[in-house]
Amino acid sequence: MVEGQDELDRLKESWNLCSYCRKERAVHKDHIMSKSDRRRHEGWDDEAVNSCAPCNWRKLSRHLVPRGYPRLAELNELTPNRPWKEWDGSIEGLRETLR
Ligand SMILES: [Zn+2]
Repeated sequence: MVEGQDELDRLKESWNLCSYCRKERAVHKDHIMSKSDRRRHEGWDDEAVNSCAPCNWRKLSRHLVPRGYPRLAELNELTPNRPWKEWDGSIEGLRETLR
């Protein structure tokens, strides 16, 4: 083991990790619903989640939520024609949502 590895692991844990990929440090706050969706669903009180820059850019206004997001069912009730899916930040996961 590299000297200082424990300390490094501890530091990594204390960083704000991205809610989607859970690998990268979160530097953005990502709105679950895009601005245009929020305008249409004013009853939805959107909470922003931690996101790394790549995940934030990849997600755009897609209907994606972090894994284990507790309000997934609520979102799907709001927009039954455009279902929401859990996303792990991966490109493969992004492709799946486009199918
Ligand atoms: Zn990420």
